[in-house]
Amino acid sequence: MTATAAPRIAFPVERVRADFPSLAVAMRGKPLAYLDSAATSLKPRCVLDTVAEYYGPKYGTVRRGVYGLSEKATAAFEGAREKVARFLGAPGPGNIVFTKGTTEAINLVASSWGRTRVQAGDRILVTAMEHHANIVPWQLLCREKGAHLDVLPMNAAGELEMERLPGLLDRRTRLVAVAGISNALGTVNPVREIARQAHEAGALVLVDAAQMVAHARVDVADLGCDFLAFSGHKLFGPCGVGVLYGKAEILESMPPYQGGGDMIQTVTFEKTTFAEVPRRFEAGTPAIVEVIGLGTAIDYVRRLGIDAIGAHDAELLEYGTRLLEEIPGLSFTGTARRKAGILAFVLSGVHPHDIGSVLDQEGIAIRAGHHCAQPVMQFFGVAATARASLSIYNTRDDLDRLAAGLRKVVALFR
Ligand code: PMP
Repeated sequence: MTATAAPRIAFPVERVRADFPSLAVAMRGKPLAYLDSAATSLKPRCVLDTVAEYYGPKYGTVRRGVYGLSEKATAAFEGAREKVARFLGAPGPGNIVFTKGTTEAINLVASSWGRTRVQAGDRILVTAMEHHANIVPWQLLCREKGAHLDVLPMNAAGELEMERLPGLLDRRTRLVAVAGISNALGTVNPVREIARQAHEAGALVLVDAAQMVAHARVDVADLGCDFLAFSGHKLFGPCGVGVLYGKAEILESMPPYQGGGDMIQTVTFEKTTFAEVPRRFEAGTPAIVEVIGLGTAIDYVRRLGIDAIGAHDAELLEYGTRLLEEIPGLSFTGTARRKAGILAFVLSGVHPHDIGSVLDQEGIAIRAGHHCAQPVMQFFGVAATARASLSIYNTRDDLDRLAAGLRKVVALFR
């Protein structure tokens, strides 16, 4: 398996580690080797400081207040929207809707766009490696509308069978929903090519960028997508905030998703008129501080440089792959030629939860389970896998400890 090719750039990993207070805390009396960033990333001090500041002396509501605290909080909140827009290469802040996370962003599209545009007999295409968040909302929509859910298959390496795509793109296909990077396998998908073919067939494209944002450059114009979703908590930001990017003309054509305060222009008992995009999709008091914290996380990532982050990830992935290949009985799930950030595997005769528990005793945090991608588990004929996922604060030492821990597991269970 080859990791994604990326230029070698010296990455200041020790300086980065010093930014993350979680790494100073021991787990089971050992230094923490945190290898579960695909589930959620640790938070740098600058994000923690922003959160403390905006829940502390700078706390105020947004959009409504006529007093100084509220005006300042509103400016910081809308400033974060601009940061997200720049980070994604979006035309402007009007393309950015704040949600609770990737899951809510995808549900927003399925409920608002889907309910008005998808009819009986239409088709939605997802891929064989999607997270449940990019399957279930489409399944619910298809069931409600009498539409069909199609699946672009993958091969044994965990790569999409792109030659099958033209045959699956029907004139009734309304939307193609695809993960930029698979959370269960680490596969980097050819999103740009999928978008090109989907558009030729008249379908829209939604990219689930939950795993992509912290590993690769995301540019919505370059990807050519119509929608893109991600979660703040996987990008070193707070939990409870996420983003939906949408093309302006599509967002503007979509009806409200939820009703309430902040998303209206006028309300009478007879009739309500709705606010402009993106506010139309942001009913109720938003996660003010978390949104501002996400802005700080984006500043942090931009300072490090996403290409340097990608190169660090590629270097670790290659190193970890070589180490784990040597473990007796270990086989990888996901051996795509283009991979990022994830080492998922099974050990013959050992349940992944047992692997996780033994590693926990060694101070090593990995994930064991179905990773909210049960169809991927079904494809590989396993109930669960073990997954070590990489981030900016991981080192070769973390991977050496993982390999040593796995040798212990092998010795214990054989
Ligand atoms: N899609 C992918 C690829 C993911 O990895 C995740 C989180 N594991 C999600 C969607 C859902 O993200 P959230 O739970 O933050 O909404």
